[in-house]
Amino acid sequence: MSELVIEDLRAAVHGKVILEGVDLVVRSGEVHAIMGPNGSGKSTLSHVIAGRPGYEVLGGSVRIDDIELLGLPAWQRAEAGLFLAMQYPTEVPGVAMRDMLTASRATSSDPDEIYELMQAEAGRIGFDEKFLERPVNVDLSGGEKKRNETLQLGVLKPKFAILDELDSGLDVDALRMVSHRIEEETSQSGVGVIAITHYSRLFEQLHPDVVHIFAKGRILETGGPQLADELEESGYERWVGTHVSQPAMASDPFADPLEP
Ligand code: ADP
Ligand code: MG
Repeated sequence: MSELVIEDLRAAVHGKVILEGVDLVVRSGEVHAIMGPNGSGKSTLSHVIAGRPGYEVLGGSVRIDDIELLGLPAWQRAEAGLFLAMQYPTEVPGVAMRDMLTASRATSSDPDEIYELMQAEAGRIGFDEKFLERPVNVDLSGGEKKRNETLQLGVLKPKFAILDELDSGLDVDALRMVSHRIEEETSQSGVGVIAITHYSRLFEQLHPDVVHIFAKGRILETGGPQLADELEESGYERWVGTHVSQPAMASDPFADPLEP
């Protein structure tokens, strides 16, 4: 049994404070949903936990068991058991998916064994095996990128996975396969999950233990799964005071906001 403990996490980007004190404890096998309006800092939270450069950590702590993650480079956080499925998965020209996961030697030092695992994972989520030989995420559709993130999760078997809008870009069948696979991993491998999303349909297969409402850089309320349905009906008005409509599809939902 492991614990991901986030305490009073505060962070800024380009001098603007985004995270204003986030507290959250996730244990092995638990699924925590985080729902909140656009621009409230959900992706910032996932990036700061994962160690993406460009953010200024102002205080607090993020630990997996007794390992403090803040201050470690991203790869060491991954070694400690953290995984981030990015809202906008990065394209890595020149590096095949197969080589990337073989190099990580997460579950085995035998490249053939890892490749077999990748093939098995691809089959489980309806991901074409040809993508395993292609450069990571290059020329993949939004939904294919999201399946690629899920495949990595299945092979790397992290202790904790943050899923930042994993559902965006997936069609209904893909969403069902992907969310079912992750739900399976919560019981088979005991992965603890933070699932950031706008839509409760993600939770038809992936069952949250708790739902957190995230707005204004912090968790404002925590409740049971029914909170997700309530939110979908009434929006965020109760938490942010003014009417915040549900997000419309962005013109390019896979553009990276951090890229110029
Ligand atoms: P969410 O994922 O909840 O939609 P984000 O964490 O992406 O929100 O963004 C939170 C806020 O931080 C937004 O107001 C966004 O414009 C701002 N922000 C994010 N990245 C940067 C950046 N690199 N420079 C300036 N502002 C940023
Ligand atoms: Mg986001």
